[in-house]
Amino acid sequence: MASLEFTGVSKSYDGPVRVIDKLDMNVGDGEFVVFVGPSGCGKSTLLRMIAGIEDITGGTLRIDGQRANELPAARRGVAMVFQSYALYPHMTVQENMAFALKMAKRPQVEIDAAVKRAAEVLGITALLQRKPGALSGGQRQRVAIGRAIVRNPKVFLFDEPLSNLDASLRVQMRVELARMHQALGTTMIYVTHDQVEAMTLGDRIAVFNEGRLEQIGTPRELYDRPVNRFVAQFLGSPAINFLPCQLTRGADGGRQVALASGERLALGDSDLLTGGHAPIELGVRAEHWQLCGEGEGLKARVDLVEYLGDVVIVHASLASGHAVTVKLTSEVACPEASTLIHLKPQPGRAQWFDQGGRTLQ
Ligand code: ADP
Ligand code: MG
Repeated sequence: MASLEFTGVSKSYDGPVRVIDKLDMNVGDGEFVVFVGPSGCGKSTLLRMIAGIEDITGGTLRIDGQRANELPAARRGVAMVFQSYALYPHMTVQENMAFALKMAKRPQVEIDAAVKRAAEVLGITALLQRKPGALSGGQRQRVAIGRAIVRNPKVFLFDEPLSNLDASLRVQMRVELARMHQALGTTMIYVTHDQVEAMTLGDRIAVFNEGRLEQIGTPRELYDRPVNRFVAQFLGSPAINFLPCQLTRGADGGRQVALASGERLALGDSDLLTGGHAPIELGVRAEHWQLCGEGEGLKARVDLVEYLGDVVIVHASLASGHAVTVKLTSEVACPEASTLIHLKPQPGRAQWFDQGGRTLQ
């Protein structure tokens, strides 16, 4: 097991653009940290820098307190699992898993014990004599993970390992990875662009955008207290609603939200910012709306209702045409398409963003 410490870590290829821009971050010993962000934001590059198969342009990476920038990949104690399984087709599962230890000339008893243990952790003991061609996608991915486990690394690196699997298998493998982390207790870094994977697997999630770390924290911290618009919008499905607005006063002198689209919305004091009148955005997650009476809240016309069993997703439009998405539990009387509804944020659920996209408190 090992901790990782990034101090001003940067990466650029030939041009001046930094693919990773001055990253400061710590990963604790035994922690499961998920790197998440849109395609091209630098997740794989960063993982390869940790593995030692990509140079670090600037800053310092420490593994277990030791500077690792110049350490060859083989001596970092990290094992990486890729999206493509890259198994040797002519070798059995047993031979595939034993390969790295065999190359390292470890004693046969040690190799056998390591393969046996990894196979047990992954539930693939019955498959050890098969060749990859006779395995399903999920089983192959398990062998690829097994190959990493037998090396007994200090840190596991996963680069979108489940992306090639179908949806139900992904859910199952996700649970198995979480179990494997509990069983092994090894530090794990897991890259994905899938926010559900990130939310369910990570002790902490690091959200990246164009090579910069936007925020790192527990799933709950990121969901409830995103530091900016990008993080707020990246996590949660359907995505959070943003409503351009400013704070103003109503006829009775009470403070109100005036939407750029013309509507007014009264909110409790605890939900209103105390600051000035600068143009801002109100953010309300789809599940944080509530239906309310006429004359209260925002009037919206229902465009489309998606019934998903446990929840209902309502797509509606304000009078101005601004689209809003509402998630209701299916126990709530479900509005029908083409009808009018009235919406307001649940108390304590309004989020505010300034012009630069930063969260206002
Ligand atoms: P992600 O894994 O988040 O999708 P990558 O780490 O693969 O993103 O890529 C980050 C950025 O670095 C992209 O803009 C990509 O084009 C660029 N990049 C990756 N590898 C190279 C390379 N070998 N040479 C030049 N640019 C690269
Ligand atoms: Mg990638």
